[in-house]
This record gives sequence, structure tokens and C-alpha cells, in this order.
Amino acid sequence: MDPAIRLRGLHKRFGDTIAVADLDLDIAEGEFFSMLGPSGSGKTTVLRIIAGFEQPTSGSVALFGRDVTALAPFARPVNTVFQDYALFPHLSVIANVEYGLRVAGVARKERRAKAEEALASVRLAGFEDRRPHELSGGQRQRVALARAIVLRPQALLLDEPLGALDLKLREQMQVELKELQRSLGITFVFVTHDQDEALTLSDRVAVFDAGQVVQLGTPREVYDHPRNPFIASFVGSSTLLEPDVAARFGLPAVATAVRPERVTLDGADGGVPGTIAEVIYTGPEHRIVIDLDDVGARITALEPNIGAGRRRSRGDRVTVSIDPAAAAPLESDASAA
Ligand code: ATP
Repeated sequence: MDPAIRLRGLHKRFGDTIAVADLDLDIAEGEFFSMLGPSGSGKTTVLRIIAGFEQPTSGSVALFGRDVTALAPFARPVNTVFQDYALFPHLSVIANVEYGLRVAGVARKERRAKAEEALASVRLAGFEDRRPHELSGGQRQRVALARAIVLRPQALLLDEPLGALDLKLREQMQVELKELQRSLGITFVFVTHDQDEALTLSDRVAVFDAGQVVQLGTPREVYDHPRNPFIASFVGSSTLLEPDVAARFGLPAVATAVRPERVTLDGADGGVPGTIAEVIYTGPEHRIVIDLDDVGARITALEPNIGAGRRRSRGDRVTVSIDPAAAAPLESDASAA
């Protein structure tokens, strides 16, 4: 089966800036695929090239087996949801959702039925006659989603769609997006700089840095086996151990990333001694920073807040150990260090 989206040799230059550098990427049908990266890493440009709003300097875009590189956005079987919703302020909710169908010449009755159905699928039945300014941010974003899915695209492109929402609403919308994708069964391509969001939602994640995909995999692969120091620190938090420090923990003597939740304090089999420099209370857990003896390095550990039990304090002496299976040796990559 042809992939939903196939990018080959994609390259995009804006003046002196190389926004996308020779990218090859296949996104499967029905996949929830995220493009994750810091600001300026090129992910929005890739999305806009897929949608047809931007022409690549070189390379090709194929959608469902058909080369669309030269086609206009409206001729492509995809739709885009933007961060700022881009709703028409003077039109009612239902008129906003119907808009694309009206442009496509769909008859009034059919158009209304389809728009009602799309609104119901984003849980906005009953809001037909409101104007956008009479809705909350989350409701506006759902109208934008309804407007995109009413056209039955084969793939939905989402550019930081939850970026304008506060944390609580964002978490709620994440669940709804995932459910929507499952019920529609279509490909979602999701651009975000929020690693939690990418890990929570995606079947696969592409991590972008400087116009290139530096790692591609399932959320678990990317989180548990980050390839280089950039990914280890951008996706989740890690302590980066120099080769000699890794060796002190009985690990291979190479640069290694260690997730704080995989660091054990006062384990049964000893470990590297150190002194607690800081205890940070985050609610569900304690983040504990330890100065290691001898090696002149710091490491961070996480312990769940289980209420009763030992309280750690600054200045406490502890031993620190790392399960070798939980440490991620990094590829040496000078440019990403
Ligand atoms: P963000 O999360 O901030 O949206 P991004 O990863 O999506 O960032 P892009 O918007 O794709 O990054 O930008 C990649 C690079 O291309 C940046 O250096 C940006 O300044 C540049 N760029 C993007 N669009 C244009 C444009 N229309 N003209 C000139 N430079 C651009």
C-alpha cells in the first residue's frame, strides 16, 4: 500500500536560510504522526509544503501514491487546522463549518446535514447559531476541526492546534483529538514543540532539528533511546553523563543519557556516593539533585510522592545507582552537543 504521505529529497530555502534539508519521510495511512522540534527547526515549513501553501525548492510530495508537488492546496486530499483557528468572525458556527462545502458547490440540504454531523463529532451540537466570539478557545478550536473534517480529507494536517489553549483545556483536547482520529480512521500529521503532547498522542514521532529529522520512531523508542544529546534533553529531561562518569556507574565508558525516574537512591547494591544538593517538590514527585563524590558531576533523580515515608533533605548522604538497561548510550554528535 502506498503511504499516505511520501516526501523525497525535500529541500526548502528562504534566502540564506535552509528551512528543510533533504528530507525523506513516509507517513502511513491511519497514522497519528507528530513532527516535534524547537522553534525554527522546519516542521511548519514541512507541513505547509505537504498542504501546498509552500513550494519546495527541490524534491517531491506524493499523497496516497499520487505526485502532488505541482498541485494547488485545494486540489490535494488534505486539510489543515491552524493554531489561530482562522474562523470567519461574522459567520455563525454552522456557516463556518459549511463554508468549504458551499465553495465546493454542495447543495444546501446536504451541506447542512454534513455540517451538523461534523459539529456533533466534535461535541458542539447545539452551538450552530453562535458566532466565534461567543465561544471559548477550546470550542473555537473544535469548530476549526469540524470545518476541516467536514470536507472528508484523507489526511488532516494540524499546525500547533492546541497552542493557544491553557494547560487543562489542552490536556482535554489532546484526548478528544486522539478519539477523533480513531473514529475517523484518517492520517493525522501534527506539528508541535510540546514533547508531552507528541509523546501522548502519536503512533510515531519525528524529532526535527535544523531542518532535518534527527530521530524517527515510536514515542517509547524516542524517549527510551534518544540518539544524541539534543534529543535526550529536548524530549523529556535527562542527565547527560560524560564517559568517565558513566564508567563509575559500571556502564560502558561512552556519553550516556539517564532519565531521572531511572535513577535509584540508596539501592541494595550500593552505588556512587554523593550529597543531596536540592530537593524540589513538584506535587506528584520529588526531584532530587545529587552532587556525586569524586567525579565532580551532578545527577537528578525522581522519587514519587507517596505521602508517608522518608523525607529527603539538602545535605543528606545517599548512594546513587543506575540500571544498565535504563541508560541510553548516545551517538557522538558534535553538532548536537
Ligand atoms: P515554529 O515552532 O516557531 O513554528 P518551525 O519548526 O515550525 O518553528 P519553520 O516555521 O518551519 O520552523 O521555520 C524554519 C526556518 O525557516 C526558520 O529559520 C524560519 O525563520 C524560516 N522561515 C520560515 N518561513 C519563512 C518565510 N516565509 N520567509 C523566510 N524565512 C522563513
